[in-house]
Amino acid sequence: MVNVQNLLDTLTAPGELFVSQADGVVRCTACGHRCLIRPGRRGICQVRFNENGTLRVPWGYVAGLHPDPIEKKPFYHFLPGTIALTFGMLGCNFHCDYCQNWLSSQALRDPAADESAYYIRRISPEQILEYARHSGAAVIASSYNEPLITSEWAVAIFKLAVAEGIKCVYVSNGNATPEVLEYLRPWLSGLKIDLKSMRQQNYRVLGGVLKNVLDTIRRATEMGLWVEVVTLVVPGFNDSNEELWEAARFLVSVSPDIPWHVTAFHSDYKMMDTENTPARTLLRAAEIGREAGLRYVYAGNLPGQVGEYETTFCPTCNQPLIRRWGYVISEYHLTSQGRCPSCGTVIAGVWPERPAGQT
Ligand code: SF4
Repeated sequence: MVNVQNLLDTLTAPGELFVSQADGVVRCTACGHRCLIRPGRRGICQVRFNENGTLRVPWGYVAGLHPDPIEKKPFYHFLPGTIALTFGMLGCNFHCDYCQNWLSSQALRDPAADESAYYIRRISPEQILEYARHSGAAVIASSYNEPLITSEWAVAIFKLAVAEGIKCVYVSNGNATPEVLEYLRPWLSGLKIDLKSMRQQNYRVLGGVLKNVLDTIRRATEMGLWVEVVTLVVPGFNDSNEELWEAARFLVSVSPDIPWHVTAFHSDYKMMDTENTPARTLLRAAEIGREAGLRYVYAGNLPGQVGEYETTFCPTCNQPLIRRWGYVISEYHLTSQGRCPSCGTVIAGVWPERPAGQT
């Protein structure tokens, strides 16, 4: 078996998101943990480490690289119908027991994930761009593992992408800092953020901090990034009416235009005994979102079982604008300016000038 730590340590470069302290100690600012790391030690994510007073960060490889429908991220209001070339590395700053990408995310944190070493492919940013061109991608996404912890590598790719007119997005747990958002700002257009719970005690179990996530949602929206929020609804964990109302009210307080995706949990990793989320629970969550005042609420992971909650409606005249079945768009009626064709209302989002299937 390949030693994953030795291999990953060779695939690093000097980082930029840190502040030097006395005696060679560094403070990493790539995520909300703000690890204080002494020489020879690692941050909580394990993939960033202090080598003689310099923070070494992941570089020069991917553990996953796929052209995906952007709806899979999920982004429903960001260039719908386009391909998002999606790359991921290894490691995470959380340790969610229900993670569906745990082999990638828990590398170096769970010995059971050591086989992730075989996912590693050395690659350059230029080669990733070449793949993006060949796959016709309009978007490049950093996903599969937590992108915040590999932000220097993402920016190296994003700089090339933006120069070619390709937009860049993060699929993140939102445990960010103002510093990393500023660092990404010139290159990043969209951010999908998980809001996993409205309870700090739940976030503690996952290894995160609720306030950091709420601050990221608000800050990124205020910065003008396109933000969509996902809440994976896990039975017995975060599915009470009270908590769902709190999440929806918080999002409305930031902007009623934020799309909220309430998605179904499936047993995975260390949570094999919890029942899958039934469609009725997703529908209850989605109705709470709409009642709270959110204009765009979607129920995900159960295609064909959630009725109108896969469709985008005009918030003014209720005209169906985009109909979906899972990741597939079956009808698209927005104008090229992103307006409702019936009443002219501007629909919040980033829309293609020439949507697929339209001339
Ligand atoms: S990315 Fe987060 S968890 Fe990793 S070293 Fe930096 S502050 Fe710590």
